[in-house]
Amino acid sequence: MTDVLLMLLFAAAIGIGWWLGRRYQHHLQQPSVADENYYRGLNYLLNHETDAALELFIDSLEVNNHNLDTHLALGSAFRRKGEVDKAIHIHQNLLNRPGLTHHQLAQAQLELAHDFVKAGLLDRAEQLLLESAGFSPNKQAWGTLLLDVYQREKDWQKALDLAQRFELQNIPNLAVRLSHYACEQAQEAIDQGDLNTAHTYLKQAHELKADNPRVALLYSAMALHAGLYKEADEHLRKLAQQDPSLVPTILPDLARCFAASDDQEAWQNWLSSCMQEHPSTSVMLALAEIIRQASDSEAAAFVTRELRKRPSVKGFNYLIELHMQWATEHAKESLEALQGLTMALEQRKPAYQCKQCGYASNNMQWQCPTCHQWDTTKPVYGLRGE
Ligand SMILES: [Zn+2]
Repeated sequence: MTDVLLMLLFAAAIGIGWWLGRRYQHHLQQPSVADENYYRGLNYLLNHETDAALELFIDSLEVNNHNLDTHLALGSAFRRKGEVDKAIHIHQNLLNRPGLTHHQLAQAQLELAHDFVKAGLLDRAEQLLLESAGFSPNKQAWGTLLLDVYQREKDWQKALDLAQRFELQNIPNLAVRLSHYACEQAQEAIDQGDLNTAHTYLKQAHELKADNPRVALLYSAMALHAGLYKEADEHLRKLAQQDPSLVPTILPDLARCFAASDDQEAWQNWLSSCMQEHPSTSVMLALAEIIRQASDSEAAAFVTRELRKRPSVKGFNYLIELHMQWATEHAKESLEALQGLTMALEQRKPAYQCKQCGYASNNMQWQCPTCHQWDTTKPVYGLRGE
């Protein structure tokens, strides 16, 4: 929506308010200041002085049951356009008008809180939302925004308390979000060396979302740190069942656990069954490494077979490296050139991508930094990934 169109809509809304007010004042036979302001505002508008027109319209705003929704919609429209100052001005002006019902007051407060969030004024948004905690008619919109404020502030405990205090079940993905808030608390406790507190939060995270793979990963990290490989192994295998797409992420830790148990046959069996159910290049290469201990040519034959089924740049790289061992000098030169190309391709492609917004990175992130969704970042599969 262009500025001019928005302003014309605004003028129309004020015009209706002015007309209604004029009818009322005509009744009382009193002169109207609103008449004069309305014409002055229109004059500003026609002279393209939109800011001056807006100031005047807002200040002479007649708020009544007929036009409250229009004012709220206009304020939201300014916010969506990125003109947060104007949105705040409109909504604050609404709140200063006498005679609003609790319902109307809460509506305006919610819109103003949205403005504050957009402007990065999180403290003010939080304060405003807490003031309308008891009488907000749209509990879901109110709870979603306050939860969003706490999430942006990384105040995980307040977010968890909020969900416990109010019934916010209708917020989308609430269980996933709350479980991750508890995981964030657990991670902080682990970083501070407070493992008892970490266990308490992980228990809570599990209760909130039993199949949150991050819970198993944090348990395994604590066990690995303590040298408890069997326990870590159990958690990692549980994670692989909960979310098989994350197997490439946990494979190095899982390899450490199997190495500690010194049971290579079990490791090979696990990799083979994983390859059957949820194939990935990382698992294929781990299997190739085991075969390679006996024979390079058998490993090359295995990788070639697998690449025919599921081609991947990472797999080709490995195959080229194998072939370079027994290649003639002339062939080696060509293979090196080819490897330079495939390695550049592999390095250029990020290993992880958010399924929600497509944000790509080389690190696993439980919350996407762009769309702020939880548990949407996964390893990239396909030719240039796993
Ligand atoms: Zn995203």
